[in-house]
Amino acid sequence: MAERTGPSGGLGAPAERNDPGAVRIGSIGGVDVMVRTSWLLVAALIAYLVAPQLQEVAPGLGGLRYVAGVAFAVLLTLSLLLHEISHALMAKRYGIHVRSITLHFIGGVTAIDGEPANAKQEFAISAVGPVTSLAIGGAALGLYQVTPDGLLSWVVGGLAGANIVVGVLNLVPGLPLDGGRVLRAAVWKVTGNPHRATSVSGWAGRGVALLMFASPLLLAAAGVPLDFVDYLLAVVFGWFLWSAATSAIVSAKIRSRLPALQARALARRTVTLPDDLPVTEGMRQATEAQAGAIVTLDSSGQARGVVNETAAAAIPVERRPWVTLDAVSRGIDPGLTLSADLAGEGLIRAMQQQPATEYLLVEADGAIFGVLSTADVDAAFSATG
Ligand SMILES: [Zn+2]
Repeated sequence: MAERTGPSGGLGAPAERNDPGAVRIGSIGGVDVMVRTSWLLVAALIAYLVAPQLQEVAPGLGGLRYVAGVAFAVLLTLSLLLHEISHALMAKRYGIHVRSITLHFIGGVTAIDGEPANAKQEFAISAVGPVTSLAIGGAALGLYQVTPDGLLSWVVGGLAGANIVVGVLNLVPGLPLDGGRVLRAAVWKVTGNPHRATSVSGWAGRGVALLMFASPLLLAAAGVPLDFVDYLLAVVFGWFLWSAATSAIVSAKIRSRLPALQARALARRTVTLPDDLPVTEGMRQATEAQAGAIVTLDSSGQARGVVNETAAAAIPVERRPWVTLDAVSRGIDPGLTLSADLAGEGLIRAMQQQPATEYLLVEADGAIFGVLSTADVDAAFSATG
């Protein structure tokens, strides 16, 4: 699967999330490869489940059958890793940054920063994963035909079956599966609207989740004998698919609203004042100019800071004549100076890189345009819903 990361939580939230349950095991092509600790549990479970079959095909193994089982689980994981690497390399080919590949209990996720530029890229990045799994499965199947019966043939056959199943299941057209991304590419191509395409594939994903919930009942009605574990697995996978499809729908809704956010339109009218002016005088002049923000200038006339509204208001009225604007300002770091032309996702990304309450907006030639308040962006974002 290939997961897009982007604005999904609060607008002021930093983009990076820590994942304490994951361990970095290396990197491929500059992409971190992580393994979730839950994978160990699954490897142990796989070893336990295949041990009796290994005992049957290679009776001499004895206790070593568990070691062989773990080795099989590792090979299986490596083949899933190739699936994820194919997503990552295709995304990188289009110049899209790939943050990490995480292997977890039911496969892996490739975290991709940013969006494909068009439907064709989306199609290539998502389709290459299942194609890779089917190619591995096909190659293993060919090898299986010429391998003499025994332990090796069992392992090769197992890898063939697992990769073909992974390839086919991932082609089911509903998010978060790769097939959902392929469907998204198709809807995007037809409608020209990437957000509607996400929404459609998200709803398709919810349909797939419902089918997953209902699958044991359908199988039972068809006379297939099932036990409790089958029902449990259907609920676990169904819930996983449902929640991922739902978050895709929510994120499509958020993203479709982002282009309405334009830094220039949201900027506060701004006055520029000397940084050694008392707070009282600064506030008086800002009110007189009907300005919502104050930018301070140093003695040479260079922009020095942005007055923090909250900090200024917190100074008791009787002390304001004795406090300078500089004391209630935040210095202008490079990250706090944004282009007035920023809009939509570009604006949100720039703000997330250096979370703050106020930013200085400048023109291309460096001239001060105004001040952008994070609170105003949040309010405008909520209002567009
Ligand atoms: Zn995939």
